[in-house]
Amino acid sequence: MNAKDDSYVWLDGKILPKAAINIGPLTHGLHYGTGAFEGIRIYNGKIFKLKEHIERLFLSAKTLMMDINFSITEVMQACEQITIQNKVSDGYIRPLIFLGDQRIAIGAENNVHLMVACWNRPSPYLKTLIEKKPLRLKISSLVKPAAESFLYSTKASGLYILNHLAKKRAISQGYDDSLMLDYRNLIAEATTSNFFMVKDGKLYTPIPECCLNGITRQVIIELATANNIEVIEKYISQEELSEADEAFLTGTAAEINAILSIAEHQYDDNPISRLLYDKLYQLTQSSDD
Ligand code: PMP
Repeated sequence: MNAKDDSYVWLDGKILPKAAINIGPLTHGLHYGTGAFEGIRIYNGKIFKLKEHIERLFLSAKTLMMDINFSITEVMQACEQITIQNKVSDGYIRPLIFLGDQRIAIGAENNVHLMVACWNRPSPYLKTLIEKKPLRLKISSLVKPAAESFLYSTKASGLYILNHLAKKRAISQGYDDSLMLDYRNLIAEATTSNFFMVKDGKLYTPIPECCLNGITRQVIIELATANNIEVIEKYISQEELSEADEAFLTGTAAEINAILSIAEHQYDDNPISRLLYDKLYQLTQSSDD
């Protein structure tokens, strides 16, 4: 976590100095990734899509058979309180639920803890897409499993081991990130963001079967549609990458990030990506999301 050491963390209803948090070595969530999290942006002191993120946290909890001891409204309030307590106006909030340390066995009943941390974003907000470094991606050899067993509607902590390794491998080979395929050999998503490509003025994105249906992804689909850009959700094969005119990633952390290359495929121009970036920027800066 990037939170500075004198920051505060909300844990199970109490705001505590980060240094006072004492989480035991036999914490179930630590051993098995039995938890779920969210990543939320704060723009100008306002939390972007807070309700959507907390509702998704509760959906993750339900799927994972973890009962959160607070209501959606209370968790939203916790996010607001910790933002104010840490005096963050442009930053990132990380709510996390995890199983405690009562019992270590797989399948054991454990307390469900809820933690909310928050910190300043390291870089200043970039006003245009041009200012952001376009990404060089490889295609990962780590393949996303079938939806029946991989719980793609959740942000379950344990699922991220595959993404973490895919990104580590990409970076170790000089790339910025990995684009991941699913077990059917179709494009799924990048390690923490959704994939879009533009072809002949239309926007294409994978049907969210083997990827998270990201909140930013849904915002981008709405913004594109409102700006008369046709959006087509379809199965996208690796071969179709050579036909794309533009490609970009979306996510809470990534916002919109242009893709310069995916393996041997290059994308030089990005007018539609830029337009959508501008629209997203305006939306995040406006008071209502
Ligand atoms: N896919 C994965 C695997 C992610 O971790 C994220 C980040 N939450 C996304 C996509 C983008 O989702 P969102 O727009 O909701 O942040």
